[in-house]
Amino acid sequence: MYAPPVQRLITELSKLPGVGGRTAQRLAFHLLRASEEEALALADAIREVKERIGLCEVCFNLADGPRCRICSDERRDRDVICVVEEPSDVISIERTHEFRGRYHVLGGALSPIDGVDPEDLHINELVGRVSANGVREVVIATNSTTTGEATALHIAAGLRERTPDVTVTRLASGLPVGSDLEYADEVTLGKAFAGRRSL
Ligand SMILES: [Zn+2]
Repeated sequence: MYAPPVQRLITELSKLPGVGGRTAQRLAFHLLRASEEEALALADAIREVKERIGLCEVCFNLADGPRCRICSDERRDRDVICVVEEPSDVISIERTHEFRGRYHVLGGALSPIDGVDPEDLHINELVGRVSANGVREVVIATNSTTTGEATALHIAAGLRERTPDVTVTRLASGLPVGSDLEYADEVTLGKAFAGRRSL
């Protein structure tokens, strides 16, 4: 129906989350109408983010160098580590201003059905960090979904075995069950953080 380059653009756009076939088509026609400069600015922004942004060598948050902004900040407490699923969760928690420690980004949640096993996440690196550096508390802030809860229990069990002196806590309930952290409002997430409990 379309010239192959147009079809290719529609196909690529429709792979984006929340973009169905009709939206992809609308976006493609918007880009075709836009000036060359405007359209290529989008292409360049995508290229630059893929070239310049990688993962922090310590916590696996997004970083534009070897270490992320938080791991490079000497004012952040080293003795508390907050464990999250994705880099976007770091942003959600930072917005609450409740947390002054450091993070560890797992890169997902355990889901055997989807083929996500412990070795696919940055769990070993977490255990390594916790055993190495005088960490006092690990706050597990995975999503309150089935996979997020399973991940929290798996990590808590591993830490209890390997680093029994470290307190492991979980965000307080009050977060909507079955929901992702990134959709929680700041006040709710802040309260869940302040009221975290031992696991
Ligand atoms: Zn980092």
